[in-house]
Amino acid sequence: MLIYPSGEDLIEVTAEGPRINLDRHDYRLSAEERSRIMKRIPIPGTAWEAVDMHDPELFSSYRQQLLLQMAVILLLFSAVVMAMLYSLGRAEQRRRMAEQHKDDFLSNVSHELRTPLTSIRGSLGLVINGVAGEVSEKAKGLLDIALNNSERLSGIVNDILDLKKIESGQMELEQSRHDLVMLVRRAIESNHSYGERFGAEYVLLEAPDSVEVEVDGNRILQVMTNLLSNAAKYGARNDRVEIVISVKGERVRVSVTDHGEGIDEAFHERVFERFAREGDSSIERPDGTGLGLNISRVIIEAHRGEIDFDCAGRDGTTFYFELPVS
Ligand code: ADP
Repeated sequence: MLIYPSGEDLIEVTAEGPRINLDRHDYRLSAEERSRIMKRIPIPGTAWEAVDMHDPELFSSYRQQLLLQMAVILLLFSAVVMAMLYSLGRAEQRRRMAEQHKDDFLSNVSHELRTPLTSIRGSLGLVINGVAGEVSEKAKGLLDIALNNSERLSGIVNDILDLKKIESGQMELEQSRHDLVMLVRRAIESNHSYGERFGAEYVLLEAPDSVEVEVDGNRILQVMTNLLSNAAKYGARNDRVEIVISVKGERVRVSVTDHGEGIDEAFHERVFERFAREGDSSIERPDGTGLGLNISRVIIEAHRGEIDFDCAGRDGTTFYFELPVS
């Protein structure tokens, strides 16, 4: 229609013809009509404007069609997403079940292995020590190998069982008062022969007379065994592994230093992760599972302590843990 845009938008001509002779006040656009204006085109040489308004009915069937199409697309899209989520969920469920079966199998086998292993180790020890009669040097050498390997196997079995205990929150500490210096001395003594296999000598470089701590003695011995055996395994050949015990205020620190190749910087943040071992399987490395330090960390943290390492470049590593003095 043509309108006169005076501010009131007076209607001049509609489809029924000009309104010029009628009472203009009856023919102004209502607010609702104004809101439907799509375009205003000035008519050259006049003050009029051609106004195009949209008819709400005009697009309704088109809009309905569009909405229907959109609804169908949305429905299909949701169905595809749901199907994907469902199959992902099933795969995740299957993966978790397989993981659970594997874990259960591992821990059952480990349990079953523990008793026969203990008896094998005991018997081998007795035979080596001549309890069952004289043993030739050649046979003793072979029996030593068997004993070492059954000890290694027993260590792995215990690590796996510890892991299971940690996962199920069943690793309980039997804490009582201990002299940490005594515990460290005992650990050095009992790891002496393991160190000898690598030519490593454990030296207690500095220690106070005694330091009282409230700990589970066996668990602290386990951590010490892990640190001492790692120092022998990853230290230099014929290394002198130095152990220092120092008290700082309310904390006591035990550190174990070797002079091996250290730890590559890229591996630093993974050292305490489960099954983490430096390098890949193509490199020849000392035996190990990558569980020891992970378990050690759980043990030390359960004692409200902390465990970490210093490693400057490629010449040696110091692993240390700190515990509260009791
Ligand atoms: P494992 O010795 O059975 O592999 P650990 O958890 O005790 O497992 O150690 C994890 C890894 O950390 C080792 O495989 C080794 O790569 C690295 N590591 C541990 N101690 C030392 C050390 N003293 N010097 C160099 N690397 C070490």
